Amino acid sequence: MAFEYAPAPESRSVVDIAPSYGLFVDGEFRPAEDGKVFKTVSPSSEEVLSEVAQAGQSDVDAAVRAARKAFEKWSALPGAERAKYLFRIARIIQERSRELAVLESLDNGKPIRESRDADLPLVAAHFFYYAGWADKLGHAGFGSDPKPLGVAGQVIPWNFPLLMLAWKIAPALACGNTVVLKPAETTPLSALFFADICRQAGLPKGVVNILTGDGSTGAALVAHPDVNKVAFTGSTEVGKAIARTVAGTEKKLTLELGGKAANIVFEDAPIDQAVEGIVNGIFFNQGHVCCAGSRLLVQESVQDELLEALKRRMSTLRVGDPLDKNTDIGAINSAEQLARIKSLADSGEAEGAERWAPRCELPSTGYWFAPTLFTGVTQAHRIAREEIFGPVLSVLTFRTPAEAVEKANNTPYGLSAGIWTEKGSRILWMADKLRAGVVWANTFNKFDPTSPFGGYKESGFGREGGRHGLEAYLNV
Ligand code: NAD
Repeated sequence: MAFEYAPAPESRSVVDIAPSYGLFVDGEFRPAEDGKVFKTVSPSSEEVLSEVAQAGQSDVDAAVRAARKAFEKWSALPGAERAKYLFRIARIIQERSRELAVLESLDNGKPIRESRDADLPLVAAHFFYYAGWADKLGHAGFGSDPKPLGVAGQVIPWNFPLLMLAWKIAPALACGNTVVLKPAETTPLSALFFADICRQAGLPKGVVNILTGDGSTGAALVAHPDVNKVAFTGSTEVGKAIARTVAGTEKKLTLELGGKAANIVFEDAPIDQAVEGIVNGIFFNQGHVCCAGSRLLVQESVQDELLEALKRRMSTLRVGDPLDKNTDIGAINSAEQLARIKSLADSGEAEGAERWAPRCELPSTGYWFAPTLFTGVTQAHRIAREEIFGPVLSVLTFRTPAEAVEKANNTPYGLSAGIWTEKGSRILWMADKLRAGVVWANTFNKFDPTSPFGGYKESGFGREGGRHGLEAYLNV
């Protein structure tokens, strides 16, 4: 007998969202100079959550000016003093984590289980980790007294709004830089709450500036002549445009772009564990994950057994209200992203792959897509080549380890990969041959602030996290 789940909603009352927000410049919230605003909606209900300012060129100028002014004093502080602010920010994030988790689930659509148990703990851990580096930069392997770069212009996507902010801001501040950050237009709220946390922590004015806006705001920020460092996470297409803007200037650049990871299962793998890893690899965060295991490569001899177990497991996934603690898969972040997922999934069918999804009822308002898998996928299919950035898995098969490596590497991307096998020597052999920045063995989507993360090829360059993550913010 299957048990029924009773609703277990997290309370919304822990978060107080204002009807409107300004830009955070020089320690104050202010409207955009030309008065432009846009709305941010909850993707699970299509309810307008708030109205935020749309920063234009003059706001970008003001924010960069504030960051430049603050840089002089901030960079001259002893590392141990900068660390105190970062530790304070980390502790406030922990104290306010329930509020921030609910906010993130409302604005992004991700399940509260993930925002509460993955995003928020990792956000705090990132600030704690880089706080620890602030007074030890001379021991990081970049010279005895490495210097910061100056003003960092940072642009982030919507899939992990607060976590991507932490990945960008924590190392930048630890190294003595000041920051102008632009969150994605569909998820601006947690960055604005972070601005409030900076005030709560007594962070000097102008050290962190938050500009909400769309791609035009991002483009103005990365092109600003007084920005010394550009850090971008987002699509490969925009990453290429930014690389063109920055080319020929002295700006230092790191790009964290898309991915099409292979999750490779050998016949000797523990099938039940591999199934959990496959589910976590592609359905975590609705598949809105740059390092998602979106291509399953399964050894032919265990294909039937594995697919049967995977379908059984997928049938138990619960899609629905992001604030319900039983929800596994929340809402797709926007109508545009939903349309993109639908069109790529349709192309899979049109090109001859076989589509399967468990029976599941989707809510009538909001943006939803059922967990889906495609079998009979070939290397030439669009669903095997293009990043879908949604809960869609493409299944391919292989016979030998060499064939698995060849298929895994047959992509313009190179961000991550997974290997499932009992054999340690095979893990090492494969990891050496896979052209991916991160290779997980018998697990997937594991993150830790001490571990560097980044890509090869069209997945970008530069590393975030770990000691390596300091390099991008130091003059080395
Ligand atoms: P996107 O590139 O459209 O947008 C990302 C950010 O860039 C947003 O803040 C957007 O406003 C801004 N932007 C848009 N046009 C710009 C321009 N011309 N100049 C400067 N900024 C501009 O991507 P998205 O749809 O928000 O995010 C999804 C993509 O991000 C996926 O491809 C995913 O793989 C990638 N991603 C990568 C990582 C990583 O670490 N490698 C992490 C998360 C997401």
